[in-house]
Amino acid sequence: MSRILVTGGGGFLGSWLCEKLLERGNEVICVDNFYTGSKRNIYHLLSDPRFELIRHDVTFPLYVEVDEIYNLACPASPIHYQKNPAQTVKTCVHGAINMLGLAKRTGAKILQSSTSEVYGDPDVHPQVEEYWGNVNPIGIRSCYDEGKRCAETLFNCYRMETGMPVKIVRIFNTYGPRMHPNDGRVVSNFILQALRGEDITIYGDGSQTRSFCYRDDLVEGMIRMMATPNEVTGPINIGNPGEFTIRELADMVIRLTNSKSRLIEMPLPADDPRQRRPDITKAKKILNWEPVTPLEDGLKKTIEYFDRLLAEDPEFCKR
Ligand code: NAD
Ligand code: UDP
Repeated sequence: MSRILVTGGGGFLGSWLCEKLLERGNEVICVDNFYTGSKRNIYHLLSDPRFELIRHDVTFPLYVEVDEIYNLACPASPIHYQKNPAQTVKTCVHGAINMLGLAKRTGAKILQSSTSEVYGDPDVHPQVEEYWGNVNPIGIRSCYDEGKRCAETLFNCYRMETGMPVKIVRIFNTYGPRMHPNDGRVVSNFILQALRGEDITIYGDGSQTRSFCYRDDLVEGMIRMMATPNEVTGPINIGNPGEFTIRELADMVIRLTNSKSRLIEMPLPADDPRQRRPDITKAKKILNWEPVTPLEDGLKKTIEYFDRLLAEDPEFCKR
């Protein structure tokens, strides 16, 4: 049994990771400031004596004794990370420094949840880990993209200076139950719009592409990365290489919900990446991992989740 810290453990991916780590017999310390996370994601874990919740902002130092650290704390959706951009940079950079300092003091292994956004609007397709990216340093997405890039730099600096075991995964768009209903991400937006019979908002002409990974697959990839020998640092892409246009996604959601919603076009946000698909050769080889959930199956489970949430807690869906 290990004692494991999950920062951002009250969020969409963090809460699922906490649950999986507990299922595997570990003790879990969940740290979150609940900026985008929710106590409803972890409420069912609070009665487990191996689970501990600390309300804390990772931009401040934290003193706990742990064997492993998964650093997920950071708003992940464009509307939330753009709402308070300087705080997003601080969370990425000061958060990484504080968690790396904690890992150095305790000797813990530490994993950074980086992102496909480090590739920006990529002109190499599919994206391989060796690609350095095409990121606007002063655009509306830069607080997140550059913050995450700097966090990768910090992880690598600590590794080079101290030899400590650090790991970096670059996560591509991930979806599933417990996504926040109002975080504006495309999967949650389209599903809620379809279930409510509202217009489906396609930004631009919908020809931009994304690759969507189901939550369970993603978390399995992260846990496998943490279990690699100390010399494996990454970065390693984790995502589903199936590539869909945003219009194809909208059509699939409409079909699966049997909705009467219409598709409408809205302005494309600045710096919106045109295409995105992970090359997962490294993840297959080093982690013996690849996603097993087809988009249609994952969407069905996510639709069921939002359908139930709308019925059980309509107020939460408005917030
Ligand atoms: P999320 O917003 O649901 O979770 C992030 C959590 O971090 C939230 O609970 C939030 O309250 C917490 N948090 C934010 N700032 C904090 C701070 N300063 N101190 C403590 N806690 C803080 O998002 P998610 O989708 O679960 O993303 C988790 C991680 O995975 C993030 O680091 C994100 O960048 C990364 N990621 C996610 C995706 C995706 O598609 N979901 C893609 C790439 C990378
Ligand atoms: N998008 C859209 N309609 C929405 C929300 C998003 O067409 O209601 C588009 C968005 O412009 C982007 C893609 O869907 O091209 C994925 O957006 P998301 O915010 O989910 O993730 P990211 O852009 O960070 O990959």
